[in-house]
Parts: sequence; C-alpha cells; structure tokens
Amino acid sequence: MSTDRIGHWIAGKINVNGGDTGPVFNPATGEQTGCVEFATAAEVDSAVEAAKAAFPEWRAMSLARRAELFFRIREVFLANREEIARLVTAEHGKTFADAFAEVGRGVEVIEYCCGIPDHLKGEYAEQVSTGVDVHSVRQPLGVCAGITPFNFPAMVPMWMWAPALACGNTFVLKPSEKDPSAPMLMAELLREAGVPDGVFNVVHGDRVAVDTLLGHPDVAAVSFVGSTPVARHVYEQATVRGKRCQALGGAKNHMIVLPDADIGMAADAAVSAAYGSAGERCMAVSVVVAVGGVGDALVEAIRQRIAKLTVGDGADQVDMGPLITGEHRARVAGYVRKAPGEGATIVVDGRVATPDGDGYFLAPSLLDHVKPGMKAYDDEIFGPVLSVTRTDTYEEAVRLVNDNPYGNGTAIFTRDGGVARRFQWDAQAGMVGINVPIPVPAAQFSFGGWKNSLFGDTHMYGREGIRFYTRGKVITSRWPDPATSRVDLGFPETR
Ligand code: NAD
Repeated sequence: MSTDRIGHWIAGKINVNGGDTGPVFNPATGEQTGCVEFATAAEVDSAVEAAKAAFPEWRAMSLARRAELFFRIREVFLANREEIARLVTAEHGKTFADAFAEVGRGVEVIEYCCGIPDHLKGEYAEQVSTGVDVHSVRQPLGVCAGITPFNFPAMVPMWMWAPALACGNTFVLKPSEKDPSAPMLMAELLREAGVPDGVFNVVHGDRVAVDTLLGHPDVAAVSFVGSTPVARHVYEQATVRGKRCQALGGAKNHMIVLPDADIGMAADAAVSAAYGSAGERCMAVSVVVAVGGVGDALVEAIRQRIAKLTVGDGADQVDMGPLITGEHRARVAGYVRKAPGEGATIVVDGRVATPDGDGYFLAPSLLDHVKPGMKAYDDEIFGPVLSVTRTDTYEEAVRLVNDNPYGNGTAIFTRDGGVARRFQWDAQAGMVGINVPIPVPAAQFSFGGWKNSLFGDTHMYGREGIRFYTRGKVITSRWPDPATSRVDLGFPETR
C-alpha cells in the first residue's frame, strides 16, 4: 500500500500540508496507490487568491499570443497523451484505449480554443443613429471554478479550463478525489507549455472544498459535472450568490431500435455504448427500447456479443475494466440481484462471469422486460447493466424518452430518414444520435443535456462555452463636432 501524498497545485507549486486525506486506489487490483489531500477552506482561499492575482496580466495577454500558447498546449498534451491516459487507467480503471481516446476528445477542445481570436470577435454597426456607431465585445469573468466527476478525470476538466483560459479567465479546478493524478499532470503540462503560475490551480477534496468555492466572493462562475443531486446543490448555491453556473447532472440514455433497423448494427452499437468504460459514462446507453417485435432478435444478438467481451485490468488488452470502487460494484450488482423480483428477466448475469482477484470487477449484465417503476429502469445505475424494454410503436418509445426525468442523450436506429427526422424533432434530450449511440458533439458544437441532466442554460465547450466564460459589453460612440453640441434632456432616440 502506498501512502504517497497527492497535494494541491497552487500558484505553480505542489502544496502538501499534512492535513486530512482520502485514499486513492487502483480499481483493477484493489490496492491503495496514494492519499489525496483534502483542502481546508484556507487552502481553497489561497488557490482563489492565486487565480485572482494572476488574472489582470493573463487577461491583458494579446489574443495572438494566447492563441500561440494554445497551439503549444496542444503540442505538449499530444506529446504526453499516453502518460495522461496511463494515469487515468491506473486510478479510474477504464481501458488504456478508452483513456487514450478520452484525452483525444479533450485535445479537440484545446484545438477549438486555438481559434480564440476568431471566437471572441464582437459585432460592429455603423451609423445606427446619425453619427453614432455601436460595437460589442466579450470580456472574461475573472476567477472561474470547475468541479469534476471521477468518470472523465482528464477530458471533463479540459472541457472547462480550455475555454475558460482561452477567454482570459483564471481557473481553480476541484477534480474528483477518486482519481486526482491526471489533473495534477495536466497542471504540470500547462506550466511546461508556458501558462503563467496562478492561471491554473488545483485543489482536491470533498464537500468542504466545493462549498468553499461556491461561497467565495471572488469566484465569478462555476462549471460542474457530476450526479444530479450534487449538480442541483451546486447550481442552487452558486446562483443564490449571483454566480454564473452550469451544472451537468446524471443521465438515463435510451436507444430506440425500430423494426427496420439492421439488427446486427444496432446490437454492436448497444453493446459498445452500454459496456464501454464499464457503463460509467454519462452518455452510456442504459436502456434499449425495442419497437414492434424486434425484441427477441435484438436481445439474442446482444447476448452473443456480450459472450465475447473480455473483462480485466484496463492496462491489459481487454474490452472492459473494473468499476471505480468496491461499494459502487456492490450497488450495481444489487440492481441485477433485485431485477427478477421486480418482474424483469436476467439474460446475462455479470456477477457469475466476474474475474477473480481483489479488483472491483463486474462483468456485463443484460436485463430484459424492464419497465418504468422497476429500480433498474428508474435509477441511473452507472455500471455495466443494460436494460431492454419493449414497445409496440414509435410513439410509445418516444414517450418513454420524454417522460424520463433525465434528458442527456438519446439515439434512434432505423433506415427510415423520415422517422429519424421526426425523432430529432420529438426527442426531449440535449444530444440526439441517429444511428449513432453516443452522440457526444464535436468540439465546434456544444455538450449538454436537458431536464435533470443540466441545471443552467449554457452547454459546455464550443460557442456556448465561449459565451459561458465571457460577458457581453456594448459600446456606443460618436465623434461630433463640439460646435454642434447642446443640452437635450429628451430620451435619446435612435434615428
Ligand atoms: P458526484 O456527484 O459524486 O461527484 C462530482 C464532484 O462533486 C466530485 O468532484 C465530488 O468530489 C463532488 N461532490 C460529491 N459530493 C458532493 C457534495 N455532497 N457536495 C459538494 N460536492 C460534492 O459524481 P461522480 O460519482 O464523481 O460522477 C458520476 C456522476 O456524474 C454520474 O451521475 C454521471 O452521470 C455524472 N456525469 C454527468 C456528465 C454530464 O455531462 N451530464 C458527465 C460525466 C458524469
């Protein structure tokens, strides 16, 4: 067991203060690999202070230089992509290939930020009134905070800090205490690329650190990604203090399979999207809705594919790694155990195929005849359990999607373009896939759900990310001949 301490990153230095810590494990072995420090309120204050002190100079850096720096950040992150991915696998458990791809989806947002001189362009209107011109600019907010979940320890922080910094803000990240090492490596890489000390800071911890950030008068905006109850808490506490906030919550993503779909392709997609990263993705497919009699063939096709999946240490050549903790594995297995009592059928029981050893493994499970009102349907399981439910019609299937309290992603599998277009119109979710099971938007669009999957109104990265991390200012100007000047108490008209 290692008790090496993982400290905070404040003003370009690692701070190890010997206070309270939480254990960090390798989920594939169950072995403790380190201790992460939990920040006190005073430590959070000093990180915010460092970010505040760095803000004026960082904001004043020309856009040309900031863009140049972002090109360097891209190079440094690509050069260290494997190392970041290895840390993600070691503390999260996902396979190395999955972790490598995660870093890639984060780098795409850095690439988008290389275009910051274009993204920050304002508007100009000449002669809006006689001799009067108007232009608009977008300016940074100041110190922004990011609070991130365990399931994407590299990518989700990158989705936050990259646009925040590109817009001229400074940043304090509070990553998940379960896998804190990748964010620390990112801090070092940002310094290596040339980001000045204090512009990017990391504090570790739990609710104390989060609530200190939410209560801090110098934190202007908060981005959060995690479970729905915490997202709601963060949104309420941030906005009641007048902070800008985007808080992304949990999910229950439905994939509808229509009778005309290619069953093999739909089964490939369902298996990939349900069991990738052991189901610990907010865009994982957790419910397949089989419409109009495709259920039996689809369940059989999924079952056959599950039988070929390998489960083991994510650092080895396997399809699926462990879950994040032993408690989470027990919770997920509980849904499988209780399913028959609620009227569902266990088609594949992952509890029996689970590898030996002390790792937090749980092999894929498949439940059939799952319905609303059953725990396996109503809860976000966040593990390798796929539920199949059946409906007679497209309308019933869409009703399931739209009645669900979550609205992150949803997908439809069909060869009928007309129905697909109708689904795009009907679906109450922020991200819709048409024959795409995990429709995470490309970096020039924005990521975010509806309903209980997002509190706030701005999605992450892309244009909405730029909007979130800036505020608008409109400048009205005129250059009249002083000889024509006179007092006029009338309300200014624009004619
Ligand atoms: P979590 O809500 O437990 O933790 C998220 C962050 O909040 C962590 O940094 C954690 O330390 C902090 N936190 C936890 N409890 C807190 C409390 N009571 N008060 C203040 N802060 C607290 O989430 P998790 O288990 O790390 O991540 C999994 C969840 O995140 C799932 O629900 C998943 O759907 C969701 N998620 C959503 C998205 C999305 O884009 N909508 C993306 C990834 C993950």
